[in-house]
Amino acid sequence: MIQPAEIRDKVEGIKARVIEWRREIHRNPELGFEEEKTAALVAGVLEGLGLEVTRVAGTGVVGLLRGAKPGKTIALRADMDALPIEEESGVDFASGCPGVMHACGHDAHTAILLGTATVLTGLREQLSGQVKFIFQPSEERPPGGAEPMIAEGVMESPTVDTVVGLHVVPHLPAGFVGVKPGSVMAAADNFDLAILGKGGHGATPHLTVDPIVIAAEVVLALQAIPSRRVDPLEPIVITVGEIKGGQAPNIIPEKVYLRGTIRTLNQILRSKAPKLIEQTVKGITEAHGAAYELEYQPGYPVVINHEETVQLVREAASQVLGEDRVVVIPRPTMGGEDFAFFAQKAPGCFFFLGVARQGEVIYPWHHPKFNLDEEALPAGVAVFCQTVVDFLAG
Ligand code: MN
Repeated sequence: MIQPAEIRDKVEGIKARVIEWRREIHRNPELGFEEEKTAALVAGVLEGLGLEVTRVAGTGVVGLLRGAKPGKTIALRADMDALPIEEESGVDFASGCPGVMHACGHDAHTAILLGTATVLTGLREQLSGQVKFIFQPSEERPPGGAEPMIAEGVMESPTVDTVVGLHVVPHLPAGFVGVKPGSVMAAADNFDLAILGKGGHGATPHLTVDPIVIAAEVVLALQAIPSRRVDPLEPIVITVGEIKGGQAPNIIPEKVYLRGTIRTLNQILRSKAPKLIEQTVKGITEAHGAAYELEYQPGYPVVINHEETVQLVREAASQVLGEDRVVVIPRPTMGGEDFAFFAQKAPGCFFFLGVARQGEVIYPWHHPKFNLDEEALPAGVAVFCQTVVDFLAG
């Protein structure tokens, strides 16, 4: 039986390489489905380890490790894409690609999974079962890379019995792990709305149908859905994040465009939300004699963690990091994640890895100054490795 101390030692031995990988990926960020260099780096490392490597869903990469004896199959997932952000972190391995940045830590996720593959390959003789290393493209851009990978069979042959993923968290101390059973991340759906009025002179509003006034009313009325039409104990966020209309102070425009996102944790409420939004939009536009076009775009479902897989990860993390470094997160976040699709195919656990550097200013995900404490990377590798060892031994 492989002991936690052995895993910790082996992880310590490749810590420098994991940091190097992270920095190389950070220096060369690529947007969703454009992860050519990242995929080449990943495939090169996995092939070097002697794993069975396949390219899936364009820039996705999967490595399969077969233990010395047959057994169950566990999948570990990392996402690889960066964001359209101009980096201002000031690190000396900052993005060499203008306007693109790893500001969500997916560089760390990829490096951690490469480290995990390296350590577990070294333990192959003692493993019974299979490990799939899933390197996913495009998490940030819906419809995302998870669904096409699943459609191309990534959860089959061998069939995945459980799936685990992680996300770095800038507000949890480096080397700490957060777990939560049940819902951990929200369903994230979007809508596009056009309010169709009648343009004219700003001095004669009575001869027009002013879509700007209507849009203002719609934005506010949408906020009455969470506060007045949904059970106050049931979380829902409706955010209008984009509004466009008009070009001069004295012209009433024909149209105003709005785009928004809806976050829910409950499937019943999620399916009701489009109707609630349309009722509000319809009522207000009709009251003003205007028309509208509303398009609803379903996004990622709720990430639901399986009780048993959470327990597995929690115990694994306690063994390699110490019990005091494993915290139970009381509430889900309203962010979205397409790990949800993997967790619909097999019992899953999406856990959080703290990356906050002590005494430094914390910048949130997607911030141009987002950074992370690389001391946390070996902790991520160790938790993944121990989880696999425990699962395949169980
Ligand atoms: Mn992310």
